[in-house]
Amino acid sequence: MSDVGAQTTKQNPLQYITEQLKELREGGVAPKLRVLEGEQKPVCIFDGREVINLASNNYLGLTTHKALRKAALDAVKRYGAGAGAVRTIAGTMKLHVELEEQIAAFKNVEACVVFQSGFTANAGTVSAVLGKEDLIVSDELNHASIIDGARLSRATIKVFKHKDVKDCERILQENASFPGKKLIITDGVFSMDGDIAPLPELCDLAEKYNCIMMVDDAHASGVLGRGGRGTIDHFACHGRVHIQVGTLSKAIGAMGGYVCGSRDLIDFLYLRARPFLFSTSHPPATAAACQAAFALLNSPEGEKLVKKLWANTKFFKRELKKRGFQFKVSETPIIPIHVGDAAKAFEFSKKLFEAGVFAPAVGYPTVAEGRARLRAIVSATHKRDQLLKAADLLAEVAKPLGII
Ligand SMILES: *Cc1c(COP(=O)(O)O)cnc(C)c1O
Repeated sequence: MSDVGAQTTKQNPLQYITEQLKELREGGVAPKLRVLEGEQKPVCIFDGREVINLASNNYLGLTTHKALRKAALDAVKRYGAGAGAVRTIAGTMKLHVELEEQIAAFKNVEACVVFQSGFTANAGTVSAVLGKEDLIVSDELNHASIIDGARLSRATIKVFKHKDVKDCERILQENASFPGKKLIITDGVFSMDGDIAPLPELCDLAEKYNCIMMVDDAHASGVLGRGGRGTIDHFACHGRVHIQVGTLSKAIGAMGGYVCGSRDLIDFLYLRARPFLFSTSHPPATAAACQAAFALLNSPEGEKLVKKLWANTKFFKRELKKRGFQFKVSETPIIPIHVGDAAKAFEFSKKLFEAGVFAPAVGYPTVAEGRARLRAIVSATHKRDQLLKAADLLAEVAKPLGII
């Protein structure tokens, strides 16, 4: 006789996950992953449907650029598919070192170290540079990877109001006698509103209160500054920011993150940044594609792409404004369309997709509760007629929902 009763009462220790998921789905805030068929392009096929793509961070169209493809293919042929070890054991290839020298020159700094992603660059660096006796002063809308790095460091974390230099100074004054080291940290361009940090003023505070200054330029590299050199270049703050983080996964078109700074900072990170020490380095194809991307950024073609990105951004914003959309804070190709309620934002995005435009809705935990929005991102490779059509469709779908 089998013990049927015991089997039916057997408990699933993950039952709570199933219940939470059900609740999220019923609340309309558990969107499915959209699946891309083919290349990441201005018009492409997601979930079997052709849509105008306003969803990717591929600002300059480099994900599919022929120079990057060729570099990646050549690297695979010459060096194989993988690096085979972490950087500190046997996984430092010549390709990695050359890429770091190239980025350091581009950013006009002494040295650079490449990480597996922008996320690990932030998390690994903040936690390596600071410890539990230290103080981190952080913008409230900083990226999750900064927040995680700050938590991992076990330092005291104080958050200042978004872009509020006075509030930042208040915290520094209140902690004037703080015995440990102090770090001011901000995104260069904020990923959800497309606004730019008040970098010169934050640098003033860093100098006045003897703080380390750190900027995460994930959305600014390849976008802001001369030829896409980033926020520091945009504001001419050269020499005033001790730690610059960037990503290779957005405008650069491949994958990875990097930290730029003094030679000693980088040599120290080689020894203490945990993702660098404990996770394998990029495959040759990735490092080679990134090299091709920086070579391109340094060329007239790269400059042209950055200019085109800004021309398209201005054009699209103007067309959206004509149709009744407002976005006061955006200063970059990131265009947030505020909705408020998360379920409504997801409905907006879904209807828009059905109409032929892909722009994702973002809700909690990516943005605060009640601050859900649609986020549209323009690229250098969008054609004017595609942007016009997207603006028309956005308006058509937004109107009956009461968004405009
Ligand atoms: C995307 C992003 C990152 C992470 O970069 P990845 O290379 O995708 O890991 C870090 N910081 C900010 C501000 C970002 O927007």
